Amino acid sequence: MKTQQHFRPTKAIIDLQAIQQNVENLKKFLRPTVQIIAVVKANAYGHGDVAVAQAALDAGATILAVATPEEALHIRAHFTEPDILLLGASPASFAPYAAEQRIILTVFASEWVQQAASFIDKEALPLRLHIKVDSGMNRIGIRSEQELLEIYQTIQSTDNVELDGLFTHFATADEEDTAHFEEQVHFFERCLSIIPSKPRLVHASNTAASLVKDPYLQYDAVRYGISMYGLAPSSYVDSIAPFSLQPAFSLESELVHVKQIKAGDCVGYGATYVAPTDMWLGTIPIGYADGVIRKLGGQEVLIDGQRVPIVGRICMDQCMVALPKAYPIGEKVTLIGQQGQHIVSVDEWAVKLETINYEVPCIITARVPRIYL
Ligand SMILES: *Cc1c(COP(=O)(O)O)cnc(C)c1O
Repeated sequence: MKTQQHFRPTKAIIDLQAIQQNVENLKKFLRPTVQIIAVVKANAYGHGDVAVAQAALDAGATILAVATPEEALHIRAHFTEPDILLLGASPASFAPYAAEQRIILTVFASEWVQQAASFIDKEALPLRLHIKVDSGMNRIGIRSEQELLEIYQTIQSTDNVELDGLFTHFATADEEDTAHFEEQVHFFERCLSIIPSKPRLVHASNTAASLVKDPYLQYDAVRYGISMYGLAPSSYVDSIAPFSLQPAFSLESELVHVKQIKAGDCVGYGATYVAPTDMWLGTIPIGYADGVIRKLGGQEVLIDGQRVPIVGRICMDQCMVALPKAYPIGEKVTLIGQQGQHIVSVDEWAVKLETINYEVPCIITARVPRIYL
């Protein structure tokens, strides 16, 4: 039996061509020397890290970025060539693995540099480091010019480590109001002006900044995340982005049971839905353990090119939908995606879930296989 065989019809369909198109379109708006860092953290925002990384590299990205040591090692096991940058903090004990696997780490404390270096074998390749500047996000990073000079000197005077980059991250690049953004740029620029020698890679822009801010801020590289997946970082960026994004994520299943119920019959746990009339009811094999959380009760799905609502409470592995008529077992159900005239978008789910589109593909759990187009 093939281990990759999927019996349950519930699956996420990932359109790798859409991802490539999005990267290629972005590339046209970058200055020619600017590199694309494809952000594939969190299993590529739920899309599947290895397949997305390959698509992004094919479309012109040259560096891959992740959030955790485990993600970095997983990517390195599949890609021997490209630089991999770990954007988050990592424990000093990871340093020898990072050096051996040529994974670039993010640093913001001198003590960490000394401790990490002490773990690295003398004969090993030096560990490459990017200094993170906290210019106003207040997450991780050095917070003053003095701290920058101190960590710079520590890296220069420590064996087994070398400075490869300097970067920051913007908190409000997707908003129309630029006051906070400009303060961040100002501090980052001050850091660049005092660092004794500029490292190979200076980078600051995420999707939002790379699409709508001054091209000067592209520096040596941009970190391209959400728009690679065809989703806009905010409605403001969507309204002024220089090209239209192609969403890559769809979620599909099939009807596994169809029946007629009588007026007054109840549906699901808690018997919360009571049929107003005699009606057709369908069952879909997807539930909150797949990431279709109970808050999505009432959300519409697409069947036969029409919108139909989920009724009753969503169960762990299944949910029910009100049908306009009888449909055969095996009828396709699109939970996210397009059928005919109708689209249920990731953004529609984000509104229903009172969150941002970033969160939607991330919450679709590993039980749902990712199938690539
Ligand atoms: C996640 C992340 C990105 C990508 O941001 P998008 O808004 O998805 O483009 C870039 N930089 C850092 C430091 C990140 O953590």
